[in-house]
Amino acid sequence: MQKSPKIEVISDLISNCTNCSLHKTRNYTVPGSGNSKAEIFLIGEAPGANEDIEGIPFIGRAGKVLDELLNHINLSRNDIFITNMIKCRPPKNRDPFKEEIFECSQFIDMQIQYINPKVIITLGKFAFQKFFPDKTMSESRGFPHQWKHLTVFPMYHPAAALYNPNLKTKMFHDFEQIHQILYKLVKSQKNHQIKLL
Ligand code: SF4
Repeated sequence: MQKSPKIEVISDLISNCTNCSLHKTRNYTVPGSGNSKAEIFLIGEAPGANEDIEGIPFIGRAGKVLDELLNHINLSRNDIFITNMIKCRPPKNRDPFKEEIFECSQFIDMQIQYINPKVIITLGKFAFQKFFPDKTMSESRGFPHQWKHLTVFPMYHPAAALYNPNLKTKMFHDFEQIHQILYKLVKSQKNHQIKLL
């Protein structure tokens, strides 16, 4: 397999990308942020208005929900890498088009290859269906799924909790399950970087 470029090089490639029409309306690309040696890799959907201005993922209200979830299992942004399926904001926060996801997916593939995480947490259906295009969120959410050598754990997108507070309880429960998965991984590996929780 061809070696992936370093994470900073991937970010530069993203910054200069004009592969889909979203480059015409973006302010900044949002490549991703966090620990480039993380064993936990989170994938959302697309940048929103705040992210488009700052170039950083999950800094709005949904980001605050995500921080609460991470804190709940004693993790912080420094313990994870987080990005989105597409790296430029769709106008008016519409859903990403299939062609945009297709054009942008090369970057997330490079990021996963370089970081080589153990667990991928998908936030929302667009991220989950990258790995399991034939499965629905309703049947799959809240359970670990094996994809190649990786554990993929599908969750609701944190933004969903802003519109339906009942979902937040389920999200806390899902993160507790992730805590258990991480704990088992830590126990089974000598050379790990995941914190013993
Ligand atoms: S969304 Fe992705 S493919 Fe489209 S212009 Fe931005 S970086 Fe390129």
